[in-house]
Amino acid sequence: MTPKPSTAATPETFDVVVVGGGPAGATAADDLARQGRKVLLLDRAGRIKPCGGAIPPRLIKDFAIPDSQLAARAHSARMVSPSDVRVDIPIEGGFVGMVDREHFDEWLRERAASHGAQRRSGRFERLERDADGTAMILYRPSGGDGAEADGPLWSVRAKAVIGADGARSAVAQQAIPGIEKVACVFAYHEIIALPEQQPAGYDPTRCDVVYRGSISPDFYGWVFPHGKTLSIGTGSADKGFSLRSAVATLRADAGLAGARTIRREGAPLPMKPLKRWDNGRDVVVVGDAAGVIAPSSGEGIYYAMASGRHAATAVGALLEGASPRCLGQARKLFMREHGRVFWVLGIMQRFWYSSDKRRERFVSICKDKDVQQLTFDAYMNKRLVRKKPMAHVRIFFKDMAHLLGLVRV
Ligand SMILES: Cc1cc2nc3c(=O)[nH]c(=O)nc-3n(C[C@H](O)[C@H](O)[C@H](O)COP(=O)(O)OP(=O)(O)OC[C@H]3O[C@@H](n4cnc5c(N)ncnc54)[C@H](O)[C@@H]3O)c2cc1C
Repeated sequence: MTPKPSTAATPETFDVVVVGGGPAGATAADDLARQGRKVLLLDRAGRIKPCGGAIPPRLIKDFAIPDSQLAARAHSARMVSPSDVRVDIPIEGGFVGMVDREHFDEWLRERAASHGAQRRSGRFERLERDADGTAMILYRPSGGDGAEADGPLWSVRAKAVIGADGARSAVAQQAIPGIEKVACVFAYHEIIALPEQQPAGYDPTRCDVVYRGSISPDFYGWVFPHGKTLSIGTGSADKGFSLRSAVATLRADAGLAGARTIRREGAPLPMKPLKRWDNGRDVVVVGDAAGVIAPSSGEGIYYAMASGRHAATAVGALLEGASPRCLGQARKLFMREHGRVFWVLGIMQRFWYSSDKRRERFVSICKDKDVQQLTFDAYMNKRLVRKKPMAHVRIFFKDMAHLLGLVRV
């Protein structure tokens, strides 16, 4: 973790510098280190990522996450409507994993280090070019206790750079030409200690999702179990909406108003993939930095890791001597796999989350067994099940009936 001093005259050269050690960056660093590349994983020290920590089985399988990282397993989801209709959906034959980001992210970074990535704590400041055009990463090392330091800038050279520095990425803003401003939902949650005397009706294996305008005018609220703690939160793109008051209401409704609060924190969720992830030369961005959070659900961990993996493959090809155009493959392959789901989820969010009347209908649709099964297959395994075409047809007509108001909720 302690950086080796490098004078301005002789900065060390890496095959790849990965800026940001969240799920996207740690995954990219791990994959590249396993390829035998000389990797630097640069991460700002000292902040736990605010996150509900729900991850699907596909992530656990694809990225070999051990059981020891799961703080809890959810075996059902409860959808709650504006009028308090509750629809319980069992997660048949599987579970949703719950991770604590404080431990999960560190474990991912350490896995990358165990495969040869060099870790340094510090804040990325600037990307510059040296005389021969090679990227220079200028960063400020963190203090020994993990605190951010105001010391001098340090520099390293990189044949390729992966920007995994989260929403409002400094790497993306400096390196990607014509980068667009992505609309964000701001998500806020409180981590609270589960009281010894659990509140009536609380189920430590159930995730509650609350669709109600007073909890969020355009997103949803949640109560997620994490073993001895819980994440209770909500989100909205409406800057005037009081997320804290909404969370206070969620806590009161769950009988947890007086429970001990461990942390209060929030962060933006960029809700649209950037049109371009690379600079056509040697930089590619991934995860929240590339805007890959699923609309409707706000799920970002799986997509961060999946995009990190695609970027590692593309950068590996670049280092093998492929044309810099190969960096474009990271976005292309990601969108081929997930673009359609993002598009559908975007439409769903705009339509179903726009009024309490529609939210009521949306929760009502969730009573349908076909909808439950397809939704969970899509979430758990990240694919739309093709072997049940009639179920898709039935859902299409049921959806239309709801959209047109032909079904009483
Ligand atoms: C309240 C909330 C709840 C959420 N709940 C869920 C959920 O239940 N399930 C889910 O799948 N997703 C959830 N998400 C989304 C998920 O947290 C993100 O999509 C995911 O963390 C993105 O991973 P990432 O690696 O791209 O970015 P991040 O996790 O944000 O990691 C970025 C890393 O870059 C570092 N960094 C930033 N700037 C610099 C710099 N200048 N120099 C060096 N390092 C830097 C940061 O310290 C951090 O380690 C939630 C988000 C929020 C805000």
